[in-house]
Amino acid sequence: MKGKVSYMVEPMKLEFREYDIPKPEAGAVILKIVRTNVCGSELHIWRGHHPTKKTGVLGHEMIGVVESLGEGVTTDYAGQPVRVGDRIVTAYFQTCRKCSACVRGDFYLCERGIEFWNKPPEEAPHFHGSFATHYYIHPNQYFYKVPDNVPDVAAASANCALSQVYFGFDKAVLSYAETVVLQGAGGLGLNAAAVAKEKGARVIVIDGIASRLEMAKKFGADHIIDMNEYDTVEKRAEAVRFLTNGQGADVVMELTGVPAAFSEGIHLLRLGGRYVTIGNISPGQLVEFDPGLLTRKSVTIIPVMRYNPWYLHKSLQFLSDNVEKYPFSDMLDAEYAFEHIQEALDKSASREVTRASIILG
Ligand SMILES: [Zn+2]
Ligand SMILES: [Zn+2]
Repeated sequence: MKGKVSYMVEPMKLEFREYDIPKPEAGAVILKIVRTNVCGSELHIWRGHHPTKKTGVLGHEMIGVVESLGEGVTTDYAGQPVRVGDRIVTAYFQTCRKCSACVRGDFYLCERGIEFWNKPPEEAPHFHGSFATHYYIHPNQYFYKVPDNVPDVAAASANCALSQVYFGFDKAVLSYAETVVLQGAGGLGLNAAAVAKEKGARVIVIDGIASRLEMAKKFGADHIIDMNEYDTVEKRAEAVRFLTNGQGADVVMELTGVPAAFSEGIHLLRLGGRYVTIGNISPGQLVEFDPGLLTRKSVTIIPVMRYNPWYLHKSLQFLSDNVEKYPFSDMLDAEYAFEHIQEALDKSASREVTRASIILG
């Protein structure tokens, strides 16, 4: 039996290719993709801006059903029994447990985490990205069964934004009744608002787009700061101080990918505050920065890349508990059949759609 992948032969150009669906090795799983999303990081690759990935199969946010199980796979990574046909989500990276990061216990930094991601599809096991009919879950790549009450649309992005912000708040040890400022109300910011709210925090969201700020309110924001109205760093810092008895926020999370936002975050924090940085992921973009202010405020900076893989399980539990409370399915605004994936990527790149989802089957 053959499966199909959409192969980026060069930036902005896709071709479909067919490969034999492999037999999973011991510990591996073959997923049949049901739904996969276009994430902001894909667009970075699509436009040709990624430092190493210039061709290949994209896609890392997905939900699928088990097509076949490798020898020895009887449960997911939470010990729940799995069978052919079960709905599954997986971390988009593996955890080798043998590299120096894994040996230290920093599973989120596994040095071999995404080694399969840059492989061309002609190389076995062929299905390295989720913009395809099938996806190969490697041994040591954590995967979980999706709770019955969580719809595909909500589960498909759990392995990216939601797990990452959840991990970020835990690394910052966010506690009840603290105040959180979120810089950015895109997919990361909306997920972060819901998680912070459910952890008992007061949530302030900063963005410059009215529709995103409206959405942030639906995802638990107690206060919003519109960058059009508060159009300087000083005005935004003052607005945050006004909302925090003159103190500044306990925790700020950077979710914009805009280098200047990083410098701004320090101004929004209280003395001894914690700064979680997630959005800026492209090295080489420089910005003015005030290190003296950082020292005087004794701010702790907590950069977060990926997440410890069991956070995907926590995210699924979070979705199961809160699926009625927040409009997770409204985060995606366009659906495309797999045959039209080029259009989904083009319209996402030109910002005609915000978050596109590809439906298979
Ligand atoms: Zn993503
Ligand atoms: Zn490792």
